[in-house]
Amino acid sequence: MLKQRTLKSITRAVGVGIHSGQKVELTLRPAPPDTGIVFRRVDLCPPVDIPVGVMSVSDTRMATTISPGGDPGAPKVQTIEHLLSACAGLGLDNLVIDINADEVPVLDGSAAAFVFLLQSAGIVMQDAPKRFLKVMKPVEVRQGEGKKLMWARLEPHHGYTLSFEIEFDNPAVAATGSQFVFDMGSGKYKKEIARARTFGMTADIDLMRSRGLTLGGSMDNAIVVDDYKVLNADGLRYDDEFVKHKILDAIGDMQVAGMPLLAAYTSFKGGHALNNKLLRALLADESAYEVVSFDDDRAAPKGFAELAPAW
Ligand SMILES: [Zn+2]
Repeated sequence: MLKQRTLKSITRAVGVGIHSGQKVELTLRPAPPDTGIVFRRVDLCPPVDIPVGVMSVSDTRMATTISPGGDPGAPKVQTIEHLLSACAGLGLDNLVIDINADEVPVLDGSAAAFVFLLQSAGIVMQDAPKRFLKVMKPVEVRQGEGKKLMWARLEPHHGYTLSFEIEFDNPAVAATGSQFVFDMGSGKYKKEIARARTFGMTADIDLMRSRGLTLGGSMDNAIVVDDYKVLNADGLRYDDEFVKHKILDAIGDMQVAGMPLLAAYTSFKGGHALNNKLLRALLADESAYEVVSFDDDRAAPKGFAELAPAW
């Protein structure tokens, strides 16, 4: 049987939220089978549980934010996508995450620190079948037209692949690889995807700061690009770090479904909003998906039964 996974021990992280600039503490705890991933706002009295789910998503501007029942007026946790991406990359199903503020710390702007943290805590198999959201027919969402067109699509696939294409009107970004395809069964999440950092253009950053966003952002936790070049002294971690970060985000945004997908995901210029719209479109059509598990590991797609290799 392909089993669910949780952490072996409790682990902690401290950092700042990229948008709020606030100091945040996280405690990641093992959880019983079928718990899913649950954020617990321990700074509130009584604490408020926010289970990760497609309908919990309450805001997708700049980052993915969840609230109980998706109510924008309720307590929230924002910027969950990099931590969820790390959980997906390691195949974690069940976790309770105590958080003492409304935003997950950005750490280095990638998922690498979360992967390190989760692997250091250790990962254990649980005696319950791991569930997958199997896509049964193509689902697509689109937005805009002409140069503003963007779309995201899910298609049936025995495995889980993500393909992304970016198109930025910026010479420094355009000079890097604009397309990448990643296979979640390859066992290369940590090596190929996890280290890709979030990025911002100097012009946008000034605008966002004036609106009280990205207050915690700096070259320590993001790639900063002006019109011509990457400003970070050490340059890029991957030649195609921008498009790889978009795949990292998509993996996190899709993990909001509460279980890994069995699908081929493709996106052209999509983002958090379109990713959530795509999952909502999938779940709105009962004939478009099935929840499946594997009694025999050998029936699962290649690489799915193995634990992700250590660093
Ligand atoms: Zn991101």
